[in-house]
Amino acid sequence: MKRTSSPIMPVSKQLNPRSQTIMVVDDSAIIRTIIKKELEAAGYPVITFCDGMEALAALRWLQAPPSLITLDIDMPRMDGFICCEQIRAWEKEGVIRSADKLIPVLFVSANDTFENRSRGFHLGSLEFISKPFSHGDVLAAVNKVLQPQATYLGMTALVVDDSAGLRRMVGTCLERIGLEVIEAENGRQAFELIKENMVQTDLCIVDYDMPVMRGDEFIHLTRQFPEAEHLPMLSLSGINDPQAVLRMFRAGASDYLVKPFIAEELLARVQVHLQLRRHMKNLEEINRNLYDKAVNDSLTGLRNKRFFQESFEEIYARALRSRSDISCLFFDLDHFKKVNDTCGHAFGDYVLHTIGKLVKRSFRVGDLSARFGGEEFVVVLPNTGLDKALEYAEFLRAKVEAYHFSDQGIEWPVTISIGVSSYGSDQPTSAGNLLQLADQALYLAKDGGRNRVASHTL
Ligand code: GH3
Ligand code: MG
Ligand code: MG
Repeated sequence: MKRTSSPIMPVSKQLNPRSQTIMVVDDSAIIRTIIKKELEAAGYPVITFCDGMEALAALRWLQAPPSLITLDIDMPRMDGFICCEQIRAWEKEGVIRSADKLIPVLFVSANDTFENRSRGFHLGSLEFISKPFSHGDVLAAVNKVLQPQATYLGMTALVVDDSAGLRRMVGTCLERIGLEVIEAENGRQAFELIKENMVQTDLCIVDYDMPVMRGDEFIHLTRQFPEAEHLPMLSLSGINDPQAVLRMFRAGASDYLVKPFIAEELLARVQVHLQLRRHMKNLEEINRNLYDKAVNDSLTGLRNKRFFQESFEEIYARALRSRSDISCLFFDLDHFKKVNDTCGHAFGDYVLHTIGKLVKRSFRVGDLSARFGGEEFVVVLPNTGLDKALEYAEFLRAKVEAYHFSDQGIEWPVTISIGVSSYGSDQPTSAGNLLQLADQALYLAKDGGRNRVASHTL
């Protein structure tokens, strides 16, 4: 396809915080100090003023205008809005020797009303920070404006185009906002790359017309993967090919750009998608954590009782259906009350945590091990008959007995008693009954002197 010699225009270069002075205007000395400290810690030089009049006077004699202004609204003598209006007027008249664009202004106010937000917006304010703000809020807002290259650090984009020049230009733009860029010269190559890096890829920018494999086919193939369901994929196409845009959308594109386009538009569109992407990733992470808390026991890392009860029935039913044996180990720490009483509750917790680790290391992936109660544990072994189950139980018992429990200078020997039951030898009437039989066998082990394995048929 035909290309213009310069399909995108570059954005301005990013600056080091040390060369970006920030003007902080607030009548509260405490707020001035808080903001100044936070921004200076990040490397920004800060000048502070206690009202609009002072700020305006300074703007007239400053050699270079500040890179950004944080502005309180309610201040004596002159409020933040009047001050900002004057700044905008001076920028127009050329009184302020500003660069080509308006000085970014962030309003920081306790007076967070719709009218104030709207007035701020019409004065070209980029953000409204509501007081009281949390530590890091002002710096995050300032960085968003002055350090866009830090915004998307850790995210990766795949740029697919048969023109090396265009790939590099798009890549350079994306690198400016912190993205790592991977390039491919056609859909086929891109598909091979993304298959290996699906989870790490946060954005694809895909040309339509390419040799070997066209952009719409690449997008279509990639969307088949569940991990790519929400992956932003932007399509690129020539100005004289409106059909291409439709084909790309039908294949699953999230957005499109028509060449030639300016860098600002590319970045503006990309940022909308990346912000959504980031929210999605955060939500997924929160979901994973919630799931983890819902099914696992935090002290031992084993499954909790609720998860155990839900999946034990299923595993049991599956064993019955496939006519395979299934066994259950129920175990309890010996004289654990004494461990707590002598060594303290913290040492008791350390023991439980360590038991969790030993159990995890001792069983297979398909086995189900859980903390059943305070110091009671259960392990379900599918496809395992009594003899093997007794062997595994004895192995675990010996492992705990041999382990040197020592924490913060405290040492104490720990043993466990284990009751074992099996479908084949105990003929339980239900999953619950199999568990009950293991629990009863545990009592036999306790009665027999503890630190031992017992079953009804031993
Ligand atoms: P036995 O050999 O008969 O099982 O005696 P035992 O002392 O282990 O049994 P008992 O049921 O009398 O005591 C269990 C103890 O386990 C009492 C309780 O404080 C302790 N325990 C239960 N959950 C926790 C926990 O999460 N952390 C700690 N440190 N101790 C716990
Ligand atoms: Mg006990
Ligand atoms: Mg107990």
